[in-house]
Amino acid sequence: DKPSPRKPAWIRVKAPTSKEYGETRRLMREKNLHTVCEEAACPNIGECWSAKHATVMILGEICTRACAFCNVTTGKPNALDVMEPENTGIAAREMGLKHMVITSVDRDDLADGGAEQFARSIQKVHELSPGTTVEVLTPDFRHKDGALEIVIAARPDVFNHNLETVPGLYPQIRPGARYFHSLRLLDRAKEIDPLVFTKSGLMVGLGETREQVLQVMDDMRSANIDFLTIGQYLQPTPKHVAVDRFVTPEEFDEYKRVALSKGFLHVASTPMTRSSYHADKDFTALKAA
Ligand code: SF4
Ligand code: SF4
Repeated sequence: DKPSPRKPAWIRVKAPTSKEYGETRRLMREKNLHTVCEEAACPNIGECWSAKHATVMILGEICTRACAFCNVTTGKPNALDVMEPENTGIAAREMGLKHMVITSVDRDDLADGGAEQFARSIQKVHELSPGTTVEVLTPDFRHKDGALEIVIAARPDVFNHNLETVPGLYPQIRPGARYFHSLRLLDRAKEIDPLVFTKSGLMVGLGETREQVLQVMDDMRSANIDFLTIGQYLQPTPKHVAVDRFVTPEEFDEYKRVALSKGFLHVASTPMTRSSYHADKDFTALKAA
């Protein structure tokens, strides 16, 4: 395999050292919660955790799929933790979060894909930490009829599902998923509850062209998606798919400009943007606007 090119100067990662980082880590361990920040080896962990923003990953830390970009372990998943929804609510309250992101591994092994656990977790955050808005970043619930309806009925503020990459790269990058299924999931979320904000994201630097990215933006707007995130793909370990190239900060700015002109309500597009990066600040600012 071709190795990733050298990281340019604009890819910066701060070492996680603050007091808040330690407190967040302790709270998550105590409540037996997992975070995507740790499991996916997210480069923003120092900054986000210092700002008391974390993305909780429910349904265990073992995924039934094996996407080529993702650092989460693949295998036979653990049994569900019945205390997880309540502990998620407690973590939101104890961290004093304005906005919490709840995501999960894929659970193709469960009849509802984990939808009930999502719904209970959303309800527990609403109940135990009423000042916290909730964003869910869900699996695609392929072959799980009724799963999306269960999640939306629990009234998340933001429904997020990442398309991750352009359709032409799905076979290499997201082999277990189907582009149009994911797009339709987002469209249906809005049909079920027109008040929910919908959000999706892309990684770039995987070999996609600018035209392909602009086409995905058009597809997303056709599916009434409100918020868009675009960030640089980074190879978590040498076993994962290599970076094709580092997209420049100017190109990210240009993507943002084009996306806003296509009608997205909010766009985050920088090299270090992740699906949940600054989701707290962005959503709070949007509500205030
Ligand atoms: Fe990672 Fe999600 Fe793919 Fe599982 S489905 S391997 S958690 S990106
Ligand atoms: Fe966690 Fe998201 Fe921040 Fe990464 S960007 S550290 S996953 S909250």
